[in-house]
Amino acid sequence: MSSGNDIKFIDVVRVLESIEATTQRTVMAKLLSSLLKKTPPDVIDKVIYFILGQLRPDWEGVELGVAEKFTFRAIANATGASVKQVEDLYKKIGDIGETAKRIMSSKPQQGGGKSILEFFGGGGIEELTMGKVYDTLMSIAKASGEGAQDTKVKLLIYLFSRAKPEEAKYIARFVIGRLRLGVADMTILDALSDAYKVSRDALERAYHIYPDLGYIAKMVAQEGQNALSKIHVTPGVPIQPMLAERLSTAAEILAKLGGTAMVEYKYDGERAQVHRTRDGEVRIFSRRLENITYAYPDVAEYVKEAIDAKEYIVEGEIIAIDPDTGEFRPFQELMHRKRKHDVKEAMKEYPVNIFLFDVMYVDGQDLTNLPLIDRKRRLLEILKPSEYVHLATWRVINDAEELDKFFHEAISDGCEGVMCKSIKADSIYEMGARGWLWIKYKRDYRSELTDTLDLVVVGAFWGRGKRAGTYGALLIAAYDPKTDQFYTVSKVGSGFTDEDLVKLKQMLDPYRIPHRHPRVVSKMEPDVWFVPAVVLEIIGAEITLSPLHTCCVGSVRSDVGLAIRFPRFTGRYRTDKSPEQATTVDEILEMYKEQKKVKVEEGPNP
Ligand code: ATP
Repeated sequence: MSSGNDIKFIDVVRVLESIEATTQRTVMAKLLSSLLKKTPPDVIDKVIYFILGQLRPDWEGVELGVAEKFTFRAIANATGASVKQVEDLYKKIGDIGETAKRIMSSKPQQGGGKSILEFFGGGGIEELTMGKVYDTLMSIAKASGEGAQDTKVKLLIYLFSRAKPEEAKYIARFVIGRLRLGVADMTILDALSDAYKVSRDALERAYHIYPDLGYIAKMVAQEGQNALSKIHVTPGVPIQPMLAERLSTAAEILAKLGGTAMVEYKYDGERAQVHRTRDGEVRIFSRRLENITYAYPDVAEYVKEAIDAKEYIVEGEIIAIDPDTGEFRPFQELMHRKRKHDVKEAMKEYPVNIFLFDVMYVDGQDLTNLPLIDRKRRLLEILKPSEYVHLATWRVINDAEELDKFFHEAISDGCEGVMCKSIKADSIYEMGARGWLWIKYKRDYRSELTDTLDLVVVGAFWGRGKRAGTYGALLIAAYDPKTDQFYTVSKVGSGFTDEDLVKLKQMLDPYRIPHRHPRVVSKMEPDVWFVPAVVLEIIGAEITLSPLHTCCVGSVRSDVGLAIRFPRFTGRYRTDKSPEQATTVDEILEMYKEQKKVKVEEGPNP
C-alpha cells in the first residue's frame, strides 16, 4: 500500500470512499485507524490534513484561494471537455466531486493535460501519491502576487491530468472546500490512539495545548508516546478554551464552589485569546481557535499597548461599544467586523473594547496550572487598563444574596449574567474542559428554559405551502463527547424568518448526504440528511421525556430520551462554534434535572 516513505493517493481515496459509504461510527473509526497504521510517518500529517479538508490547522489560516470557476476551468482543461460541459453537469448534480469523476471517466485525459505535464517537466505519467497531491495543493495556496490565479490553475490542471476519476473527485471537493466527510478531530485522536497504541488521554492533553493533529500524529508516528511530553503551551498557537457548566440559583452555585467564588461580569461578545509571540506579533484567536486578528487589528494594538510583557496569552471578551455613551451594543454588531475587505470602515462604524478575564502564559511561564487567584494577580501585574482594554468587573462573594445583587448589577450594565469561578487550590485553567470550576449564571427567561442551547442540524424536512422549496423544519441534535456522536433532541420549525429559510438552505445544502451520517444517532427519518456541521442557537419551553428522540435514552427512563418542548430558533447562527462545541447530552440531562428541582421548590402551578 505504501510506496517508500509515501502512500499512493488512490489508497487514501479508497478509504475515503468507504468512510463516505458507512452509517456506522465504529466502522469509520476502524477504517481511519487502519489507514493511519499503513501510512508512513513522513506523510501521516498530510493524510490527516487532507481528510480534515485542510492544508494546515485552521488557526494558521492557510487557504487555497481557488474559486469555483477556476476549478471548472482546470477540470475542463485537463480532460478536453468544455467549461460549459463541466458547469452544466455541476448544475445538474450539485457536487463538484461527482462532476469531476464523471467527466474524467468519459473523456480521455489529453490536450491541456499533456502540455501542462511538459510545462512542469513531467515525463511519463506516474501515479499520484499523497505527498505529491498535498505538496501541489500547498504550492497552489502559496502562489501569490501577479499571475497567481494562472499559476494556481496550471497546478490544478497538473493534478487533474494525473488523477484517476476517483482521485479527481476528492481533489475537486477539497479544492472548493467541500470535502466534508464529517470526520471530527476527536475521531482522528481515537484512530491515532488505536493505530499507534498511545494513551488517548495523553493525545488529548497534547491536542488541548497544541491543536494541530498533523503535527501530533507525526510526532507520535515517529517517536511514540514520549514525544507528546515535548508539547508545551506556546504563544502563537491557540489552546483549547476552558468552558463553564451552568446552574440556575445563587445558593447552588456557591455550594458547588465551596462557599466562596470569584464572580465576574459575563459579557456578551466574542471570546478572544490574545497571544503575543516572541517576535512581538499579536494574534487573536476565536472560541473555535480561528485566527481573527484580521477582524480586530485595533484590539491587537490596544492589547499590545496595555500589557507590559514580551510574550503572553491572555483571554477576554470583545464587545461592540457605543462610543458616545460607552454602553455595550448587541453582539451581532461584531459580525460586521468579519468582512475581509472593508475592515477599516467596519472598525470606524463598529468600535470595540476588550474585557480581559484570564492569563495563561507570561514570559516563558505556563500559568495554566496555577489557581485562579494567582493567575488574576499576574494579570493585574501586567495590565495597565486603558480606554479600550479593561479588566472584567469582578468580586469575591460568599453570600447568595450578594451574588444575586451582583448578578442584577451585571444585567443592568448590559451583561448576560455572571461567571462564577472557583478560587480553590485546584482552580487551574482546564483547557478544553467543561467542568465545575466555572459556572455560568444567566438571566432567567421565566417560563422558558434558563438558557439557550446550541444544537447541530443533522437532518431536515421539506417545507410545504409558503415554505415549499426550503426546509420547513430541522432535525437537531446534541453532542456526546464520550461517543463522539450526535443525538437528536428536537424537530424545530419556529423562529425562522423567510430570509433565514433561504439562508439555511444555502448553508446546509453543501452538507447534504444520501444517508444518515455515521456520527448521528436518530430514530426519526428526515427527508434529507446532513453531515453534522451547522450549529444554531435554540430556546425552548422546557426539556421533556420523549420516545422519539435519542438524546439521553435510558438516563431518566429506559427507552425514553429527552427532547425540547416548543423549540424556537433565536436568530443566532453559531458560526463561532464547531459541532463538537455544541451543547452536550450531559448538559441537557443536567438542565432537565435542574428544571425538575425548580418545579419542586416552586410547588404545583396555581
Ligand atoms: P460555551 O462557551 O460555554 O460553550 P456559549 O458560547 O453558549 O457556551 P455561554 O454559555 O454564553 O457561551 O458562556 C460562556 C462564554 O461566556 C465564554 O465562552 C466567553 O465567551 C463568555 N464570557 C463572558 N464573560 C466571561 C468571563 N468573565 N469569564 C469567562 N467567560 C466569559
